[in-house]
Amino acid sequence: MKDCIIVGGGPAGLTTALYLARFLRSVMVFDAEEGRARMIPETHNLSPFPDGISGRALLDRMRSHAELYGAEIITETVSTVEKKDDVFHVTTDYRVEVAHNIIFASGVVNRRPPLSSSSHDQGLKRGLIRYCPVCDAYEIRGKRVAVLGNGAHGFAEARFLRDYSPTVTLVPPDGSRAKAKDGIGVLESPMKSLALSDAHVIVTLEGGETRHFDTLYVALGTTACSDLADRLGVHLSEDRCVVSDAKQKTSIERVYAIGDVTDGLDQIASAMGQAALAATAIHNDLPRRILG
Ligand SMILES: Cc1cc2nc3c(=O)[nH]c(=O)nc-3n(C[C@H](O)[C@H](O)[C@H](O)COP(=O)(O)OP(=O)(O)OC[C@H]3O[C@@H](n4cnc5c(N)ncnc54)[C@H](O)[C@@H]3O)c2cc1C
Repeated sequence: MKDCIIVGGGPAGLTTALYLARFLRSVMVFDAEEGRARMIPETHNLSPFPDGISGRALLDRMRSHAELYGAEIITETVSTVEKKDDVFHVTTDYRVEVAHNIIFASGVVNRRPPLSSSSHDQGLKRGLIRYCPVCDAYEIRGKRVAVLGNGAHGFAEARFLRDYSPTVTLVPPDGSRAKAKDGIGVLESPMKSLALSDAHVIVTLEGGETRHFDTLYVALGTTACSDLADRLGVHLSEDRCVVSDAKQKTSIERVYAIGDVTDGLDQIASAMGQAALAATAIHNDLPRRILG
């Protein structure tokens, strides 16, 4: 019986694991290794890393740090979380583990642009494809920016980016026409296809003409990885994020949620802050350990 099992080993899950292990609690993390942090080519808004660090290198450090204090981190996908006899049973393809507390740190998945996965991954690496203006708009100052999106969400991202570049163009993914406003440009005719060269994003219009951009922000929204929490009966928001209180507690006792899977600013710094709050709440609610 563990004090806590964490579903997801991104920045959120690994930070809680570190805190709980240092609180002398038994903690196990299951991680499918497919999260958003893993996609980051190089982050420049984490203050301990002024020269930047890749998402993978960051996760490796965080994992080793948590393991140093005894956290068990297992690369397996959790298929169910059930409450039986007042404890939580966590099942993967290879085992069933039980715990007094559960933390969902399972993140969200970004909807992707119409590109093959190898072209997408190359584009991400080269900074041609981006997902997070809050994270890296600073890096695209003065460049020609396309925003793949429409509706209020696409427009909000374009407007945010307009503070960094005089050339921001909204590109609806579905062939619809956007309206030019607030200094944001639109295409003369709908997009027919999208491609990447070594240095550019190439949008082909329905008439056959092409437009070139230096970078493309994908503003197609995300899907929260909240199905396991939903099946357990945890309350979700309208957009299927897990609803949690100021201590990251959900609608079910001893079930917590942290990081992108909750409603909030999807950033590493906020995921880590939520992780510290959840770990401390769990530690304080567990029976005290009286040392002899
Ligand atoms: C391209 C890109 C660049 C970004 N750049 C920055 C940046 O510079 N700075 C910044 O602060 N933020 C950045 N972000 C956002 C940042 O990545 C997220 O806010 C952060 O990763 C959230 O951490 P998390 O632990 O909640 O989720 P994630 O990092 O997504 O981790 C969730 C983990 O849970 C696992 N998981 C899900 N379901 C299961 C299951 N059933 N069983 C086991 N494991 C499961 C996933 O495989 C994954 O490993 C960027 C995002 C993207 C996409």
